Amino acid sequence: MAPVVQHPDEPYHHHILQTCFGDKYQAEMPQIRQNIETLAKGEILIDKTLSKVYKGQTAVFVHSSRSIWLFDDFYRLDTVEGALAVVHEASHALLGTEDVFSKDGHFTVVKMTPYATPQGYFGYIDRDFKSLRAAAPAKTMVQNADSYRLLGHLALSGFQDLGHDHPMSDWVIEGVPVPEKPETAKKEPAKKKGWFS
Ligand SMILES: [Zn+2]
Repeated sequence: MAPVVQHPDEPYHHHILQTCFGDKYQAEMPQIRQNIETLAKGEILIDKTLSKVYKGQTAVFVHSSRSIWLFDDFYRLDTVEGALAVVHEASHALLGTEDVFSKDGHFTVVKMTPYATPQGYFGYIDRDFKSLRAAAPAKTMVQNADSYRLLGHLALSGFQDLGHDHPMSDWVIEGVPVPEKPETAKKEPAKKKGWFS
C-alpha cells in the first residue's frame, strides 16, 4: 500500500485511491498517508481465537480489550485474504475506523450490535460501499474500515476481475477506464477463493 500513497499522482495509483476513498480523496491525502504509515508500523494485539460467532465472520476488533479476535473461518482463508481481514481489523484498532454510517446526510458513526441492524450505510465492499462512496465526503471513506481492505487488495492484485461472487464491476467507478498498471508495480495476481468467505 505504501507505494500507492507515496506516489498518488501516478495515474494507476490515482485510480486506486479514487476507488477506495472517492473522487475527493486528494484533500484527505495527508491523513491517508499517515494512516497507511500507522498501519505499517503499529502493533496489534491478537489475544483470542473463538469458534465462529456470526455467519461469514472471520475476525472482529473487540473495543473493550482493544484486541483482534480471530474465528475458525479465519484459518480457512488463503494468505492474502487473511492478511486483508487483518488490515480491516487493524484499521479499527490503530486508526479508529468504523463500518456503519448514518443515512441522515451527516454520515455519523452508527454503532452496530449483533442483534439490531441499524439504518445506515454499511461500508463493507459487499454491502453499501459504492453508495457510501458516491454520497459521503472523502473523510467518511477515510474512516471506513473496508476502504483499507480494498486498498490492500488493489495495491497487491490490481483491478483484474477476481472471478468470484464479488466481481470488480460491483465496486469500481462506472465509466472510468482503469489506467495501465505501471511496469514496476506489476506482480502476479494473488490466487483468491472469495472476498468474504
Ligand atoms: Zn469492521
